[in-house]
Amino acid sequence: MSHVFHRSPDPIIAVKAEGCWIHGNDGATYLDAAGGAVVSNIGHGDEGVLSAMTRHMATLDYLHPSVFTSVTLEDYAAALAPRLPMDDPRVFPTTGGSEAVETALKMTRAYHLARGEEERVVIVSREMSYHGNTLWALDVSGREPLRRPYEPWLGRSVKVPAVTEYRCPSSTHPDGCAQWHVDRLDETLQRVGPGRVAAFVAEPIGGATLGAATPPEGYWPAIAELCRRHGVLLVVDEVMTGFGRTGSWFGIDHYGVRPDILATAKGAAGGYWPLGLAVASGEVHETLAGGFIHGFTFSHFPAGAAAAHAVLDRLVAGGLVEAAATKGEWLLGALRDRIGDSPLVGDVRGIGLLLAVELVADRETKTPFPRSERMAERLTATARELGLLVYPSTGCADGTDGDLVMLGPPLVIDHDEMGLIVDRLGKTLETM
Ligand code: PLP
Repeated sequence: MSHVFHRSPDPIIAVKAEGCWIHGNDGATYLDAAGGAVVSNIGHGDEGVLSAMTRHMATLDYLHPSVFTSVTLEDYAAALAPRLPMDDPRVFPTTGGSEAVETALKMTRAYHLARGEEERVVIVSREMSYHGNTLWALDVSGREPLRRPYEPWLGRSVKVPAVTEYRCPSSTHPDGCAQWHVDRLDETLQRVGPGRVAAFVAEPIGGATLGAATPPEGYWPAIAELCRRHGVLLVVDEVMTGFGRTGSWFGIDHYGVRPDILATAKGAAGGYWPLGLAVASGEVHETLAGGFIHGFTFSHFPAGAAAAHAVLDRLVAGGLVEAAATKGEWLLGALRDRIGDSPLVGDVRGIGLLLAVELVADRETKTPFPRSERMAERLTATARELGLLVYPSTGCADGTDGDLVMLGPPLVIDHDEMGLIVDRLGKTLETM
């Protein structure tokens, strides 16, 4: 009997991982087509990262972040700063995405308090979003299956409609969708009172809930302009889209927008350390001027910075961000050719190496399968039997029904391995 409180009933015991492959103790080998939970961007077992961490740990372990900093962290932040889509960014390291989002949200409150705008307390976010599982991050999330048990503890944030091309809520679709969404946010700001809104928080490209959902043309610049006009801080959640995943350093780079605050994690340390980052623009940081009441015992952990710096170096040296764009284009095309006509598949979409396959009961009407059929889970289990790991998500159609699986392989994946993903996913769908 195990004494671990597992997340699922029957986890595979992993014994070794290298590149895009994970080996189980039963002798089975799995192609990690989702990088775990879209985390492993430079692949498993990278010697450069391991030796950077060992070198660092030989001299420094824990330091209290209120008392010390380290050359390791200072160097990492300096190397990262020019890649971030912000002016004079200041990096606040955490131990994961939810903590980074919580930190980012608290920064918005501290910013408005410092400016004497105490009444700015409301956070606006989007339906069908995901920002994390701690309570405030969950509250701004619109992911119903995860929210449902905790609803009595939630309800302080205000939502605007989800941004999804496949199930676009805009009455003007397929034209004018960006403006339709901007109008909804504008209406919401007017209803709440623009002077009461602290921030708008959103994923630049919809991640786990909507499955690699890109926004319509013109959406982000118009949203950013609206926020600025009303003194509402723009917070982008790049936990899944950061560090090259979508073929640019950050997802928001595709749209030429510079946020006030950014949260990121997953690919930051590529799975070698549990690291998140909340990043404030220079202007936000200067406004807080030492008045940010917040912290965690394990924030600013130097070993995390050592791992993340080595991951950053690997991304740059390997040209992996650019590679994600070209490889992703090939993989998306190959997937559409192989499974696009499957009666179970409604849509194959994505950008860079952040891709998703949405399953439907009826391709014409886009009717989802009822939840009771557990299609995402069945696909995931069948794929696993064929040696392919994908990342399932449910509720994308209406909060309950709607099945998709995400693909987010390490950016180091080669052509043969991408071919295997296509082949195994094709066989999976034929077997179901
Ligand atoms: N934000 C986004 C966009 C995410 O995709 C996730 C996790 O999937 C989170 C926040 C939460 O991150 P973590 O699971 O590291 O707490």
